[in-house]
Amino acid sequence: MDSVRVRFAPSPTGFLHIGSLRTVLFNYFIAKKYGGTLILRVEDTDRKREVAGSAEGLVDILSWAGIHFDEGPTQGGKFGPYIQSKRLAIYEKYAGELLAKDEAYRCFCTPERLEEMKQAQAEKKLPPRYDRACRNLSVEETEKRAAAGEPFVLRQKLPLDQEVVVVDEIRGEIKFRSENLEDHVLVKSDGWPTYQFASVVDDHLMEISHVVRGDEWISSFPKNILLYRAFGWMPPKFIHIPLTLNKEGGKLSKRQGDVAVEDYRAKGYLPEALINFCALLGWHPKEDNELLSLDGIVAKFEIKDIGESPAIFDVEKLDYFNGYYIRRKTIDELVGLCRPFLAERIGADDPRLKDKQLLHGVVMLAQERMKKLSDIYELSEFFFAEPEYAAELLIWKKLAAAEVKENLEKILELLQKIPDGEWTKHSTKDVLMTSIESKGLKTGDYLWPLRAALTGRKFSPGPFEVAEVLGKDQSITRITNAIKKLE
Ligand code: GLU
Repeated sequence: MDSVRVRFAPSPTGFLHIGSLRTVLFNYFIAKKYGGTLILRVEDTDRKREVAGSAEGLVDILSWAGIHFDEGPTQGGKFGPYIQSKRLAIYEKYAGELLAKDEAYRCFCTPERLEEMKQAQAEKKLPPRYDRACRNLSVEETEKRAAAGEPFVLRQKLPLDQEVVVVDEIRGEIKFRSENLEDHVLVKSDGWPTYQFASVVDDHLMEISHVVRGDEWISSFPKNILLYRAFGWMPPKFIHIPLTLNKEGGKLSKRQGDVAVEDYRAKGYLPEALINFCALLGWHPKEDNELLSLDGIVAKFEIKDIGESPAIFDVEKLDYFNGYYIRRKTIDELVGLCRPFLAERIGADDPRLKDKQLLHGVVMLAQERMKKLSDIYELSEFFFAEPEYAAELLIWKKLAAAEVKENLEKILELLQKIPDGEWTKHSTKDVLMTSIESKGLKTGDYLWPLRAALTGRKFSPGPFEVAEVLGKDQSITRITNAIKKLE
């Protein structure tokens, strides 16, 4: 394959849509697979949608995900500037070229006229499409009106009656009738280019080899190709990646929450999980093993394996992936990852956040059951706050409260004898189990009340593991409190 150059071209609108993460990933896979170059181009020509600081935010969230660019606004490169608002003179030059070639024309229609036209078309049930009213104005007239300061937009002069055949690398040939296409706007009345115009000019000048973008751009595809033809340029290859739908088959929308990658990060999803999950939205490895690292995906990735049909965004699957990657972390790594989530709940100044031994123990006991990093507090709250529970929780099966109390007193007596420095899950277990077994007692009659006393919960890790993390003092206090509850 000739030199591969792909670009991710987001419009900075304040956050990274999960669908855009998938787009950048597919670009990344192609760049890495074929030894190519990955470019970041900020498409900020829609001034109304622009959100200040969002380009920086994009770079930040993408580097969190492990995606770094070879060329872009911060890296530079020989095809810059990489921010469209800094390329206005370039677009002006190419717009002039199209006008001179009679491939574009000035349109002076006012917004009011266009609105009336649209309404009339709607009444006649016709598709809303510019009626080409200004297409045949003479050059002299348009020059005169423009010189007199009358506002105008620049529209592409599309062929009137032609079959336009375009080729998508995944779908093959797609045919359009040119009369169904609109003479669309290339340059707006304020002189700024539209996406359609700027992206084609930039893809050409930046020598992009593959345009990899979402399916929603298929309707622009014939117009893009006709623009390349108007300029006499060779178009790049196009790859439209399939739509991502929610489980109900609808669009992923901000209203339903959960479309911003930043929100997934805030909830405690790991980049590995998000990447692995998003890679499978529209692509599938030949073998069945779906759990793949970024490098693992690159090794298996083939353009021809990208699917055509919409991908389904299944959060349960993402949770499963996230749990898998959480379980693969070392305890030290996981402590580091969980600390900010704990800080959110117990306060950033809480000294326990610096207690390595405590956090180590807490995380080790939660790791197996965590789906998200933010689960850490719920799973281990009893380590950070006195458990609150009703006395009934201490009662095991048919035991009477007095019996449970007696059992807890026995436990207390035995455990108190363990010297401070020898308090471990093994020593507590040995002491208690030896006594229970030697007397032929029932394990549940002792272990349930003990666990309930230590955690205040119906479900939690085992009593000896919890006792070890709590330490002797805390454990003894909690057992004593439980006994009091039963008085
Ligand atoms: N700026 C467009 C967007 O944000 C880019 C589409 C493309 O990749 O060509 O969706």
